[in-house]
Amino acid sequence: MSENVLEVKNLCKYFDVNRGMKGSQKVIAVDGISFEVKKGETFGLVGESGCGKSTLGRTILRIYEPTKGEIVFEGQDISKLSRKKMLPYRQKLQMIFQDPYASLNPRFTVGEIIEEPMVIHHMYDEKKRKERVQELLETVGLKPDHIRRYPHEFSGGQRQRIGIARTLALEPDFIVCDEPISALDVSIQAQVINLLEDIQKKEGISYLFIAHDLGMVKHISHRIGVMYLGHMVEIGESNDVYRRPLHPYSKALLSAEPIPDPKTARSRKRILLEGEIPSPIHPPKGCPFHTRCPYAMEECSQARPATYEVEDRKVACFLYSPRYLRQRKGLAIEPLLQGRV
Ligand code: SF4
Repeated sequence: MSENVLEVKNLCKYFDVNRGMKGSQKVIAVDGISFEVKKGETFGLVGESGCGKSTLGRTILRIYEPTKGEIVFEGQDISKLSRKKMLPYRQKLQMIFQDPYASLNPRFTVGEIIEEPMVIHHMYDEKKRKERVQELLETVGLKPDHIRRYPHEFSGGQRQRIGIARTLALEPDFIVCDEPISALDVSIQAQVINLLEDIQKKEGISYLFIAHDLGMVKHISHRIGVMYLGHMVEIGESNDVYRRPLHPYSKALLSAEPIPDPKTARSRKRILLEGEIPSPIHPPKGCPFHTRCPYAMEECSQARPATYEVEDRKVACFLYSPRYLRQRKGLAIEPLLQGRV
């Protein structure tokens, strides 16, 4: 996993909100995000509801037009491509939606639902398309006779499998999985996750995996990005971030995650954040987290921290700036790295 399939550089998405007589204002949903996803990698995105995870996924796929920044997919910046030039990339960049029922046309049979994207993209002749539909049904664990049935005849988990088969029909290289399991029963969630992992192993597809369930994101992701108020505050290997989060927001977010082992759970201290998440229409000046951060310093309200590389981690916090670490003459680095700030 070395080659990058996707590089996102300083990506921003602002929405205009019409405020009548007062003119328009902007909702700053995604602000200056940079990260990359390797071939065959799952990059998990975590953060509270409304932090911009889904908007980021949709902007990468150009469902929303980016306000600024670059989206480099397989070496090509696709952020400003015309509709026509974007078409081949639409085939390679796909999405699995949260609600498996709403994303399937109830008047189409399962066979028609899976075949439709291939028809739209003029893939194969009719005979080959039908064969491919059968193959895809088998890949996602559905029976050959399901082809003639309608979405309402299936359970939630089976409908998500139909949605996955439809997504795979276009042979994508990159899939945004936007809360793909949150509408499913807990017993079915693991089956869908295992299916996504099996497909990745077989096809080498990369995923951007967005979910509320932190445990599930940890399980499926190779690396994780933590988002707060439209910003990426920390990126690192999945296990490292979960075991030893560095950014103060990551620490608070992960301290709320249930731990199955009662002994470890008792020893962990829950960090309760005070205050509300600021409005993305009026985000705070300086570090976006300074209004709630237990470690905020004076400079945090004045300037936005850069993203610093600490070991193999990226952290957007002044506590990890070389100047701050030098000031502390290195004495503070160990507790910082051990997540004991
Ligand atoms: Fe907290 Fe300051 Fe770090 Fe922001 S930059 S997370 S306010 S310590």
